[in-house]
Amino acid sequence: DIDNTSDTIADKDRKFLWHNMLPYNGNQPPMVVTEGKGAWITDLQGNRYLDAMSGLWCVNVGYGRAELAEAAYEQMLMMPYYPLTQSHLPAVRLAEKLNEWLEGEYVIFFSNSGSEANEAAFKIARQYHQQTGGHNRYKFIARYRAYHGGSMGALSATGQAQRKYKYEPLGGGFLHVHPPDSYRRPAGQSQMDFNLQCAQAIEDMIVWEGEETIAGVILEPVITGGGVIVPEAAYLDRVQEICRKYGVLLIVDEVICGFGRSGKKFGHLNFNMKPDIVTMAKGLTSGYLPLSATAVRKEIYDAFKDPAAYSHFRHVNTFGGNPSACAVALKNLEIMERDHLVERSRLLGQRLREEMQELLAHPLVGDVRSFGFLLGIELVQDKQTKEPAPLATVNKIIGECKKKGLIIGKNGDTVAGFNNVLCFSPPLSSTDEDLQFIVTTFKQVMSNQV
Ligand code: PLP
Repeated sequence: DIDNTSDTIADKDRKFLWHNMLPYNGNQPPMVVTEGKGAWITDLQGNRYLDAMSGLWCVNVGYGRAELAEAAYEQMLMMPYYPLTQSHLPAVRLAEKLNEWLEGEYVIFFSNSGSEANEAAFKIARQYHQQTGGHNRYKFIARYRAYHGGSMGALSATGQAQRKYKYEPLGGGFLHVHPPDSYRRPAGQSQMDFNLQCAQAIEDMIVWEGEETIAGVILEPVITGGGVIVPEAAYLDRVQEICRKYGVLLIVDEVICGFGRSGKKFGHLNFNMKPDIVTMAKGLTSGYLPLSATAVRKEIYDAFKDPAAYSHFRHVNTFGGNPSACAVALKNLEIMERDHLVERSRLLGQRLREEMQELLAHPLVGDVRSFGFLLGIELVQDKQTKEPAPLATVNKIIGECKKKGLIIGKNGDTVAGFNNVLCFSPPLSSTDEDLQFIVTTFKQVMSNQV
């Protein structure tokens, strides 16, 4: 078929398609992916790659699950769409199931993407305070390096210059503190002291901004796309204590950490955390259909029950909680439970960490960090000064992995001057052979770097 030759597709791609994040490069068309099975994808030329990024950190149950396609198909035939201004069975069932996974009492608001889930969280938090006496509470504290989405509010919460540059001014009222990036803590300071100091920065900000102006703190349990920054448990304990002390809502972004990635059902369940709001997307459907959720603690929801005018949450999302997307999510969670993928994630994560830690002896590897089946390798050009490895080196390693059939990711912030953390977030369903392929291929590539 002349229309499907790779040259024709590449031409049409360059002409008609505007990609996410990819700088324009007329000579180098992106990979056109045609198929996926398990942890592997195939491109238009028939090349196969192990996708150690699960797409964009989301294909948790792996590619090619017929059960998910069938769940969508059956629901679409039965009842393809109805808005959640009223109700439908897949949404009710999924909301109940998410409560079980969250191990708490939450009321669930559905949207389509992680950004939208966070937007809903910000609006809920502000309205909650308005209706419970906190009329001036409108500001949110987030962290540098964290990514919370591309829409104006979620981007305001994002702490990466590279995402915001040239799109500002964004929504007002978003403030940032430094995350506990222990690898780059001041010399001589203990990891614990540094973590507690980073938590203290949140309390200081609340006090200096005026506690009556702060609506919420938003954080991922572990910063993922900003460089796999794993805190001490004491940091999160302290942040939670501070939130309670000042009546500030704790919003936990589980868009990547959720759905088994962390080795537990949700990232925060690894810690002693009881968030007021939990946002989730990606792994909720393993990316098979768009769906996200904002889970709100029951006591917060209670503040929206007043029959007075404008007391309910006046947020409409036409496609949020689409019935087929909910049906896919339910089947996706069923597969995770049936195949014990959360436990598998923990096991594979441990093995990956043990294997990759050996690379600490490599001159370019400054740090190896992991959380469940998520791993980051920070590349430096000088282990003493910790000067980040140049982007060209990072890209070369990623390119060589790809030539050998392995797709890995990178994190950081080009505008802030470093983009040097390699990232691995493979499907939780990866086989032992898949894991071995990731490790062997990556080590081979690293052994060729000076
Ligand atoms: N929050 C986190 C932690 C993310 O990693 C992302 C996306 O990568 C988002 C929110 C935004 O999700 P989406 O791209 O679905 O809007």
